[in-house]
Amino acid sequence: MSDCIFCKIAAGDIPSATIYEDDEFRVILDLGPATKGHALILPKQHYKDITELPEDLAGKAMILAKKIVTCMMEAIPCDGYNIVQNNGEPAGQTVFHFHMHLIPRYVGDHAGVTWKPGTLSEEVKKEILEKAACLK
Ligand code: AMP
Ligand code: ZN
Repeated sequence: MSDCIFCKIAAGDIPSATIYEDDEFRVILDLGPATKGHALILPKQHYKDITELPEDLAGKAMILAKKIVTCMMEAIPCDGYNIVQNNGEPAGQTVFHFHMHLIPRYVGDHAGVTWKPGTLSEEVKKEILEKAACLK
């Protein structure tokens, strides 16, 4: 994807604050961090979102997230971590190259990775449980 900024960053064509790199991923510091240490896992190949990401890379991305969170929690002590992954504009995706946000949390940081809880109605529960048959 010649016009994708994360392709260029992942390939090293645009400089970035890289904290980890291997053949398949680059992990960079977010330029607009929610908190100190906010990092992004980028696959080097272009996939627009999780629906396009091959299963083996999805698995590797989560294993890498675990490695980085575990290491960085020691290196830059924090009080928790959010792993956030946005798909589609309504979900907050602004760069359409799959990425995972690793966001350190600090007591009182007001980073706001949250939502207002609704209620699960019987009708909606029934509908979703029926439609989730596609998972079987
Ligand atoms: P999302 O909204 O989930 O698509 O996340 C995109 C993230 O990429 C945002 O947190 C941005 O701050 C971050 N971002 C955009 N451009 C760059 C860049 N050139 N280097 C590092 N982070 C970036
Ligand atoms: Zn890309």
